[in-house]
Amino acid sequence: MKEIRMVDLATQYDRIKVEVDAAIAEVLTSTKFIKGPQVKSFEDNLAKYLGAKHVIGCANGTDALQIAMMALGYQPGDEVITASFTYVATAEVIALLKLKPVLVEVNPETFTIDPAAIEAAITPNTKAIVPVHLFGQCADMEPIMKIAAKHNLHVIEDTAQAIGADYFFADGAKSKAGTIGTIGTTSFFPSKNLGCYGDGGALFTNDDTLAKKIRMIANHGQSVQYVHDEIGVNSRLDTLQAAILDVKLKYLDEYAQSRRKVADYYDKAFAGLENVTTPVRAKNSTHVFHQYTLKLNGLNREEIRKKLEEKGIPTMVYYPIPLHEQKAYKDERYKEGAFPITESLCESVLSLPIHTEFGEEELKYVADNFISVVNNSGK
Ligand SMILES: *Cc1c(COP(=O)(O)O)cnc(C)c1O
Repeated sequence: MKEIRMVDLATQYDRIKVEVDAAIAEVLTSTKFIKGPQVKSFEDNLAKYLGAKHVIGCANGTDALQIAMMALGYQPGDEVITASFTYVATAEVIALLKLKPVLVEVNPETFTIDPAAIEAAITPNTKAIVPVHLFGQCADMEPIMKIAAKHNLHVIEDTAQAIGADYFFADGAKSKAGTIGTIGTTSFFPSKNLGCYGDGGALFTNDDTLAKKIRMIANHGQSVQYVHDEIGVNSRLDTLQAAILDVKLKYLDEYAQSRRKVADYYDKAFAGLENVTTPVRAKNSTHVFHQYTLKLNGLNREEIRKKLEEKGIPTMVYYPIPLHEQKAYKDERYKEGAFPITESLCESVLSLPIHTEFGEEELKYVADNFISVVNNSGK
């Protein structure tokens, strides 16, 4: 049996090696390492896939969030609302730009930002909402967009974990994650659903003026070479990564399907476990299972992790410490117990291995061992 890994990029590469190697060789031969034609080709292909008017590559998913907030012209002290249960990058760039991160609670079932909590947190200084499409499914965008319209706010969708997921509106219309708000951002970190072989990221928007501004900010605020209209950053998607991503984009839906098969298998296998809540699938979103994150109810998580580790089964905890309890983000606005759902999730969630390369044998091994460890937990 193959070694069990959280992600298996080696086997994935092996299956597309001929195509990827050829794409890399082409870039090496051309030596157009920065702004080569593959960057535009990938941006255009991703835009077509997403149904977005503009896709602008950048250096990573954190930069994408930062560039989005720079392009929207926020001033120090402006408030940006985001989820208390997310990866640090989301809040980090808000703080870095001297804006005020306003954390709000998440839905206990889908783990995504709670629209009612957003509305309650709005003040005259609020400028934007940053929903995070956590673990592979969309935040509840329709009510979020309604709140944004009512209060005249921007919506920046952090799509780092859910590229390719579909969101369904009440009238049956559907949109790809990241294309509903003012700007969508994503990451091509190797382990993400669309991962490159290094760092990479992108922004999506349907607004022509904003797209131009984003491109300018990502390139030193430069409109024409050596003419700087804005303070910008140096954040590019390099040609090699774009060439690799252009190959992998063709497989993105197939990859999501493979991940879903793993999730379906786990869901079915764990259905009878009383102390385990398998991932709830939102009614209005497809799930691309960036992570398979379940909840352990009243079980000793560390003991379970240790026993699984002994069987050669890695697990992860996304995320163990809520943002408002992190040293860097502590704030007197947030008392202990400020976000009981987030705090309880941080204590109870567990992510099992899920990737595009699972065989039936490995899947059964993980599921059988998980069931046995849970059933013998505390004994
Ligand atoms: C990965 C991730 C990011 C950051 O992406 P990088 O490319 O690592 O900078 C931002 N937000 C979320 C939710 C992520 O999962």
